[in-house]
Amino acid sequence: MAELKMFIDGEWKEAEKRERRPVVNPATGEIITYAPEGTIEDANAAILAARKAFEDGVWSGLSAQERAEYLFKIADKIEENAEELTELETMDNGKPLREAGYDVGDAAACFRYYAGLITKPDGYTYHVADPMQAMVVREPVGVCGLIVPWNYPLLMSVWKIAPALAAGNSIVFKPSEVTPVTPTKLFEIFEEVGLPKGAANMVMGAGPVVGNEIASHPEVDMVSFTGGTKTGKHIMKTAADTMKKVSLELGGKSPNIIFADADFETAVDYALFGIFAGSGQVCSAGSRILVEESIYDRFVARFVERAETIQVGAGDKEDTEMGPLVSEEHMNKVLSYIQLAKEEGARIACGGNRITANGLENGYFVQPTVVVDVKQDMRVVQEEIFGPVVTIQKFSNEEEAVKLANGTVYGLAGAVFSQDGAKALRVIKKVRSGITWINAYHPTYNEAPWGGYKQSGIGRSLGVFGLEEFQEIKQININLQVEPVGWFSK
Ligand code: NAD
Repeated sequence: MAELKMFIDGEWKEAEKRERRPVVNPATGEIITYAPEGTIEDANAAILAARKAFEDGVWSGLSAQERAEYLFKIADKIEENAEELTELETMDNGKPLREAGYDVGDAAACFRYYAGLITKPDGYTYHVADPMQAMVVREPVGVCGLIVPWNYPLLMSVWKIAPALAAGNSIVFKPSEVTPVTPTKLFEIFEEVGLPKGAANMVMGAGPVVGNEIASHPEVDMVSFTGGTKTGKHIMKTAADTMKKVSLELGGKSPNIIFADADFETAVDYALFGIFAGSGQVCSAGSRILVEESIYDRFVARFVERAETIQVGAGDKEDTEMGPLVSEEHMNKVLSYIQLAKEEGARIACGGNRITANGLENGYFVQPTVVVDVKQDMRVVQEEIFGPVVTIQKFSNEEEAVKLANGTVYGLAGAVFSQDGAKALRVIKKVRSGITWINAYHPTYNEAPWGGYKQSGIGRSLGVFGLEEFQEIKQININLQVEPVGWFSK
């Protein structure tokens, strides 16, 4: 694959210092290509280009309908290139083709959703004290810095870029240094559809260098970040100096509560999907399964039985159900949590190891791993592992289930399985999380807001809320009787 470049002010650019970083296929450990190692100067150039485009109105000055036309064209191009995008996503991130294919479809749908939404009515008018008429309009925030992680390289980019552009902002986007391939393809599409110069810029490089410059630069009006909670806290502090608008989609340790009256096989099936889809590298993963004690042993036995049959392999193989972890570094982090679980006194009911056979030895594969005999205060229960590792705990009543579910600093997602509708709703309403399910896990759609409570974030992606994140709200007061106010006597 040709070496990647950054996209600044409508031009493809190497890093200012000509340094580059290898991009690795996690299924084989092979280098796919190299990406530019952007510098503070590169980030600065992208920010200034975005600022100029915004002030010149080349994008922000277009009508909503004109911007929508571009977004519809981008969606069409994503679909035309779906096969290539899917293969590239699998090669760069490792996820199976089936998962990558869904992401690409969702990415096209997201552009269409925001293309439609931006042309719909918004704002309010108020009949306030005569002769004043007040109205409220929504305007773009300005220059938006968008920083994303590696777990959904294309989709996480699109969740930010589509609403930010729809609203009329100029953007400076930074992909994860681990997965810059499909974002590059997306920017090629922006070039193909003729997005005005400077409206969308992409800088690559290390988070503490390029990302930090975006979060601290006075010409950036907003920073929208998806990634780890620790990084999110750092970004929020950095952005405070210039009082940027901040939107944060962070980590999770989400509870999946299974009552004895649940449809048993449905609960087991969704619980597997909840944790092992994406090899557990999903922010909303159901990484803490809580099971009512009367069915606990039966549940664990069946869950382990099925976890052991999951077909782990390279994402581009037809029969693969779970791919590798994204990098060697991340695999080592996940393995160290499994080791920690043992040291904390928990028991590994299945899995627990790197897979080093069947041609997978050069990739970063870890077995689906089930951890039992855990206590709520153990680090494996409290901290986000972000891999195919799940804990299964026991509860005896509704109250205890809710207490355990809410017993971490996170509040991203959660689910309840029960055939008692009233109980399921009662319990899910007590779970302090922003994304929840009853009798399901994971399905979410562009129409509904995505985001967390507590240390899982601030603000929402997707839906109407996701557009509003990228808008300012202005009140305009209009005097219908144009004459002096007469407040002062002389
Ligand atoms: P990360 O926080 O390490 O990195 C995310 C991005 O931030 C990368 O582009 C990185 O380069 C950049 N970055 C790192 N340090 C920075 C700094 N000091 N200043 C500015 N930018 C910096 O996260 P990751 O390991 O790439 O992704 C995994 C995390 O993302 C998990 O915690 C996961 O839960 C979270 N995530 C959350 C959501 C959500 O919607 N809530 C979605 C996907 C992933």
